[in-house]
Amino acid sequence: MARATTTPRPRLAVVKLASCDGCQLMLLDLEDHLLAIAERVDIVEFPEATSHRSSGPYDVVLVEGAVSTPEQLEQIHEIRREAKLLVTIGACATAGGIQAMRNWRDHDAFRAAVYAHPEYIESLATARPVADYVKVDAELRGCPINAEQLLEFLTALLTGRRPNLPDEAVCAACKRAGRVCVMVSQGIPCLGPVTMTGCGALCPGFDRGCYGCFGPREQANVTSLSRGFMHLGRTPAQAGRLFAGFTGYAEPFRDVITELGGVPGTSPAETPPAAGAVAPAAPVAPATPAAAGTAPHPGGRR
Ligand code: SF4
Ligand code: SF4
Ligand code: SF4
Repeated sequence: MARATTTPRPRLAVVKLASCDGCQLMLLDLEDHLLAIAERVDIVEFPEATSHRSSGPYDVVLVEGAVSTPEQLEQIHEIRREAKLLVTIGACATAGGIQAMRNWRDHDAFRAAVYAHPEYIESLATARPVADYVKVDAELRGCPINAEQLLEFLTALLTGRRPNLPDEAVCAACKRAGRVCVMVSQGIPCLGPVTMTGCGALCPGFDRGCYGCFGPREQANVTSLSRGFMHLGRTPAQAGRLFAGFTGYAEPFRDVITELGGVPGTSPAETPPAAGAVAPAAPVAPATPAAAGTAPHPGGRR
């Protein structure tokens, strides 16, 4: 009689670096789907869900968070050695996240301002996306990640097919949803043309500009869009500041901020553009009071 054989289930680990755990919560939020997934994989490491610990090797590792401390730097190299497939999840892991907003400023001054005993704090001078240090096999964007994309990714993984993930700008989703463009109709700056979709163009649906939380899409023409913001009456530093949200450290957002000014943690007035930066367009009367010289803030109506 033939003996039944069992194929070992893939070993899945979920690990956390510098992050808020929100992307891990999206995995837990899959609820019934997660139970179905758990029948097909061994979830061997998942600090948000269990205190059980397991060493590698792993078939798949989902990594949440930026690399912000020397310990995390060691950790990510070790994870890379142990992982067949390393997948970064969320804006922190893929773009540096909120932590990376300190990268343009004096790290020691921040540390001294925040902690009573900064000498006990070990952190790197910059907080960086995982791909700045090790090879990354796939990325899921967003803050937090999109649950449907996560499910699609895991399902594709388990069935051995290519995941069907969006690869277009927020504008495409915005137009499909039949939204009126806030930039054209109201003069509200919007990063939709240069941002990877995945949210269904959520912010324009609430009369707000996109602030880029899914990060830049490939070949994003940030130079053209920043000129467009200047045509709406923004100074170069104000235009640069619009890219300086929590995906601001991802290229090419990082470059446009460095070139135009408006680095995080300063008001645009404090951050003149770098020498040789593009000159502002002739001032144009803002279309609405909302666009009139307000200090733009990522996440707010601008
Ligand atoms: S990407 Fe956003 S939700 Fe995810 S861990 Fe970072 S801050 Fe939290
Ligand atoms: S509102 Fe923003 S995302 Fe929508 S079409 Fe206009 S620029 Fe694109
Ligand atoms: S900022 Fe808003 S519109 Fe832009 S990607 Fe994020 S959720 Fe979508």
